[in-house]
Amino acid sequence: MKQITDILQLKELTSQYRSEGRSIGFVPTMGFLHEGHLTLVEKARQENDIVVMSIFVNPAQFGPGEDYEAYPRDLNRDAKLAEQAGADLLFTPSATDMYKGAQNVAVHVKRRTDVLCGRSRTGHFDGVATVLTKFFNLIKPNRAYFGLKDAQQAAVVDGLIEDFFMDIELVAVDTVREEDGLAKSSRNVNLSAAERKEAPMIYKALQKGAELIRDGERNPEEVVKAVTGIIENTSGVIDYVELYAYPELTPIETLNGKIILACAVQFSKARLIDNIIIDIDEWERS
Ligand code: AMP
Repeated sequence: MKQITDILQLKELTSQYRSEGRSIGFVPTMGFLHEGHLTLVEKARQENDIVVMSIFVNPAQFGPGEDYEAYPRDLNRDAKLAEQAGADLLFTPSATDMYKGAQNVAVHVKRRTDVLCGRSRTGHFDGVATVLTKFFNLIKPNRAYFGLKDAQQAAVVDGLIEDFFMDIELVAVDTVREEDGLAKSSRNVNLSAAERKEAPMIYKALQKGAELIRDGERNPEEVVKAVTGIIENTSGVIDYVELYAYPELTPIETLNGKIILACAVQFSKARLIDNIIIDIDEWERS
């Protein structure tokens, strides 16, 4: 695996791969890698000739008071894991190189951001879309891999690729979980021991919501109430429990079609998010 920090070198290498007719799969991350990230790399490995992974804690997607400084980092460990999982190229640029000089343009996301995390994290998805536009232009990947743990992000990227006519296939990958159901996340290390014990309740609550829908509940408010009631038994503070059409992220009065049931819970030093995506029509057919 080649590990590079230089933008020009990245452009040269990726344009060489393209001229050789090799397909490129791209896995953007913020590092502190876990099995969730590595699953994306393994999938990219199966589907492309070259796998490029980026590790970049993107300042533009953190708001004031968020955990940009405290975000966990361990580049040496990450490089070994990325190589073992099958990455060919690990790109770890500096923030000054990625945002050189005064920035002339930033991407503003107009839809799919007024709900879920977008509501409280003002500007977060603009920062995500801006840095991804930079990465996509530098790497020009054939496919880009995103986890459904960050389902709103995947929905935003879907809109970015479509509206800007990018020739990139978005590959969305299911959430990888710990044995007790907690969604794997770099932020889980910031949970206290007691919080770590409670955190699996989040997924249990979402599963209970899914079970209600499976049993015929079609009123979103009832589902949200049940899920909220379970999460309230933890010491975490609920930011939201919400239900929308997916990937449009528009409200639905009577549950139908493809929906997302998602939540965010703030523990003392970690804000956890999780979701379940359900195709109700498919369930009804089966
Ligand atoms: P991050 O480093 O948190 O920005 O995540 C980088 C990519 O890995 C994003 O596409 C995430 O959605 C994905 N990812 C993070 N955690 C998981 C997980 N538990 N399962 C699947 N994908 C994940």
